Amino acid sequence: MPEALLHVERLNAFYGDFQALFDLSLDVNEGEIVAIIGANGAGKSTLLKSIVGLVRAQPEAVRFAGQAIGGQRVERIAAMGIALVPEGRRLFASLSVEENLRIGGQMHRPGPWNLEQVYSFFPVLAERRKMPATSLSGGQQQMVAIGRALMSNPRLLLCDELSLGLAPIMVKEIYAQLARVVGTGMAVAIVEQDIGQALKIAARVYGLRTGHVVLSGQSHNLSRQDIAAAYFGD
Ligand code: ATP
Repeated sequence: MPEALLHVERLNAFYGDFQALFDLSLDVNEGEIVAIIGANGAGKSTLLKSIVGLVRAQPEAVRFAGQAIGGQRVERIAAMGIALVPEGRRLFASLSVEENLRIGGQMHRPGPWNLEQVYSFFPVLAERRKMPATSLSGGQQQMVAIGRALMSNPRLLLCDELSLGLAPIMVKEIYAQLARVVGTGMAVAIVEQDIGQALKIAARVYGLRTGHVVLSGQSHNLSRQDIAAAYFGD
């Protein structure tokens, strides 16, 4: 078997003396959507941050496209083709929608994504391109955050809790668009509390509890019992 696009093996992560991830292993293959589920504090965000370089990782614990990237600088990892849509969106309040999107394009990675393409995916952003990003609704701000990540033409898109604080109808719309994005050949890993959405879109799932992988498998093979066990323990 060739190595997966993202290959995480025995990753440990710490905040000072506190260990948040324990020997965590996980794969994301080219063109695949993987969901990462688990209760608050399970380590989902820490895992994404370790992959993109925001939390320190051991060099060989994170491999991307055949290279060890653990512990490398955030900019270098981004330039290699991993983009994060962070929890809470983190848009620049003083910048317009378009300026926020352009920040994602600063990497100048070749690929299909540019302003026109993002606007054709999210037409409402084209209408509001000149407005301050944070004056938009929560759902529209989430579209800006996704668009900004896409502008870097990533091979792997990491999404942290896209549904957080959004109305159910908006969550549905965002996920419908995300499914189309994947059709362009990108690999996606989504961290979600909204398990229904996550399982609908993802072929495979990992469940985390207290920094350990306690569940992994094909979405359609998972029972409610499996999922409850991943959240609350057996
Ligand atoms: P949530 O859904 O609440 O975001 P999560 O599964 O993403 O949860 P993490 O945010 O990765 O979980 O947190 C994992 C553990 O690390 C938790 O015990 C949390 O309290 C701790 N932690 C997270 N960030 C920090 C930090 N900056 N400093 C110290 N501990 C942290």
